[in-house]
Amino acid sequence: MSRNIIPTEDEVRKAAIELKKSNPASGVAKIHSLLLHANPSWTVSEKRVRKILHSEGLVRSDAGTPSSTTDSIHPSFRLNKSLDVNKWTNRVEVKYFDAIKGKGLVAKEDIAKGDVLWKEDPFILAPEWEIYDLQRSSEACSFCSSIIRDHSPLHISCEASTTATPCTARYCNRLCRLQAEKTHPLLCPARNPASVPLLAFARDAQWMALHALAQCTSRLLLASQQDTATFDLDLQVVQGLAVLGMEERAQCLRDWSPIVKIGGEPLNCTCKHSKNLGHLAEQKKLARVLKKPISEELQKFTFEYQAFLRGLGRMSLNLEAHGGLYRLHSHLNHSCTPNVSIRHLDQRTALSRITVIAKDDFKIGQELLITYTNPQSSLRDRRRRLSEWGFGPCRCERCVTEEKIWKESDSNTQEADDLADQLKAGLGVL
Ligand SMILES: [Zn+2]
Ligand SMILES: [Zn+2]
Ligand SMILES: [Zn+2]
Repeated sequence: MSRNIIPTEDEVRKAAIELKKSNPASGVAKIHSLLLHANPSWTVSEKRVRKILHSEGLVRSDAGTPSSTTDSIHPSFRLNKSLDVNKWTNRVEVKYFDAIKGKGLVAKEDIAKGDVLWKEDPFILAPEWEIYDLQRSSEACSFCSSIIRDHSPLHISCEASTTATPCTARYCNRLCRLQAEKTHPLLCPARNPASVPLLAFARDAQWMALHALAQCTSRLLLASQQDTATFDLDLQVVQGLAVLGMEERAQCLRDWSPIVKIGGEPLNCTCKHSKNLGHLAEQKKLARVLKKPISEELQKFTFEYQAFLRGLGRMSLNLEAHGGLYRLHSHLNHSCTPNVSIRHLDQRTALSRITVIAKDDFKIGQELLITYTNPQSSLRDRRRRLSEWGFGPCRCERCVTEEKIWKESDSNTQEADDLADQLKAGLGVL
């Protein structure tokens, strides 16, 4: 049957409300697909359903996630006052713009096109799957992800690995292994077997944000075993990351918070597993890694369901394209005409290290911008992509100009474009 009916506002409203009532846990995307399924002749875009659900107050907006409607959704964030930018560069500084735009990075002096602005190692790394698989097969460093296929006497394996519980982690050298102790112990099959199914799940689902969150949670829990200053520095990095709610994207995880696996179930009082012998053995192993109790506050920050979703949102929004989370890089805002580029130049010695290069000349005070979308795509496609991340329409100089041209163009073309959107939505090809 063809989708040749464009239903009235009241028809869509009534149907959407009914569906939301019988599927209260479903997000906009799910309600939209149910609506199309129930009305095979209707052409309705997801955007239209979202608008209606929002206006009826039927889209959940939990604490910590923006509750305003589509056009004004922006990430929330906190400034990390302990971040010392001079550790990386003295040519750039963090600037607070306003409540909507938040923070960003600006030039502290004039900068010439082609200049290297800074180099930065990741806070945590959840590398793209191709590299992750090489790490799993001991062909890439489990810390910095450089390829270590060739044999070198410097290469070194995870010291916790035993024949009974092997760990395939291998490192470039002692330094990489030492650095990896900030995250690896809780993700090591020999030291925390409960992490194995979690990482396997993230790998199978190719869910980079979940893997990154596993790394990040490990880092925080392990830092909590150190002195307060070390822990506070790490916690402030994570709390300073911009965050968008993930409540709609992560509905499938409603009753299962896999991140709990990292700290092991012992930490989670809501866990209903029976205490069989295998389980106790795992607890004993974990107790050797986590000797100090985890504070209630940190447990809430890492293991509660809403916190878990916010954590996923933080990762999604701040990861560099190759899967690293960088303290300074994560401050960079988006433009469809980016003026800095991110490169991985130290391929043989530290693949995960980024080099930030000026693509243009900068005047003092000018903002450094990267792109979150493909800058080659059209205005509509770029905005669609950004809206998938929960951003409102991009207002960068290029988008504003292109929008103006588009608005001045023949209104018939616009109507045709809108219709094309509606039809595509109907066919589910958006
Ligand atoms: Zn390494
Ligand atoms: Zn290991
Ligand atoms: Zn733009």
